Amino acid sequence: MQRKIPFVNPAKNYLLIKDEIDAAYNDVMSKGDLVDRGQLKSFEQNLAEFVGTKYAVGLNSGYDALHMSLRAAGVGPGDEVIVPAHTFVATCSAVVNAGAKPVLVDVAKDFNIDCGKIENAITGKTKAIMPVHLSGWMADMPKVMGMAKKYDLVVIEDACQSLGSSINGKGAGSWGLAGCWSFYPFKILGGYGDGGAITTNDADVALFARRMRYNGEDRDTGEYHGHGFTCLLDNLQAAFLDVKLRHLPDWIIRRKTIAERYRRGLSGIADLFLPHYDSPGFDHIYQNYTLRSKQGNEFSEYLKNNGIEVLTQFRKPYYRHEALKLEDRGFPETEAISCEVCSLPMNVEITDEEVEYVISVVRGFYGK
Ligand SMILES: *Cc1c(COP(=O)(O)O)cnc(C)c1O
Repeated sequence: MQRKIPFVNPAKNYLLIKDEIDAAYNDVMSKGDLVDRGQLKSFEQNLAEFVGTKYAVGLNSGYDALHMSLRAAGVGPGDEVIVPAHTFVATCSAVVNAGAKPVLVDVAKDFNIDCGKIENAITGKTKAIMPVHLSGWMADMPKVMGMAKKYDLVVIEDACQSLGSSINGKGAGSWGLAGCWSFYPFKILGGYGDGGAITTNDADVALFARRMRYNGEDRDTGEYHGHGFTCLLDNLQAAFLDVKLRHLPDWIIRRKTIAERYRRGLSGIADLFLPHYDSPGFDHIYQNYTLRSKQGNEFSEYLKNNGIEVLTQFRKPYYRHEALKLEDRGFPETEAISCEVCSLPMNVEITDEEVEYVISVVRGFYGK
């Protein structure tokens, strides 16, 4: 019988914590606490503490977190914002929808923005830079912050894939003016539907987001402080996320153990580039185990044909989608990544035996 190794297994994950999730559900439903109640406040407090910021504001999605942060920073028409060429499209769309112009910069071997190429993209109009911490590995924030200081730029971190990651102990999402989080089901802290948040040390940014997520309204006074949006994190999702956040430290340890197993099993294959980088102080939490194979599609199709669900994000870089009308300034590393990228199953539900199967299939492909 053909084996099936899913990329993630949300039903199995639920069973790991069923009692706690069901209790959270019963609590919310029996109290009728649906909108902006204690469960949301509790989650926000715990998230802020986990990230290492003063405030967290729950929103409807990671996209909303990015969009709201840009608006809070005063980014708008006439401004340019630096974003990586290799990221999920939402990073860039948030800039466009805030009325500003995205300026794309190529990434480096670790899939994150190439800090050596940022300076070239800065103009008199540059207002902000949005580093993305992809797959659980942070962009080089000491360098990004240095650049931002030199050119007086706002930094907004797209930390949607890196909750729990850090550099020299300082958490992702606590470096810039705001850190942006997604609780999309397949993120490291995933809800049961869309969700997101901003973390910040800036009281004004937190207040702005609190009002704008609720159509601009100050909920104490009823005063509208601007034309806002409807993008509040649901109370029910917050209750579930609060449960899962308690497990996150253990789950990160499990992910690192799986990554180590992959590393041991897969090192020594010349055509594979594994996501183990040599940067002292950087902590990889393996939201994804994303490797590069010189054999590209041939490799990823072979895995799929052997029952292993893999992600190949993104075979077509977002700036190549014509309707987005973006400028391709030449991004050789992003282009190379797009042909070679492949993420193996990485989640807390997978068993060691399943990981060994994945390793054996990969080694089989390479005839080893
Ligand atoms: C998931 C993700 C987003 C968007 O999050 P949503 O909650 O789906 O809106 C933005 N940026 C990155 C890097 C992501 O991985």
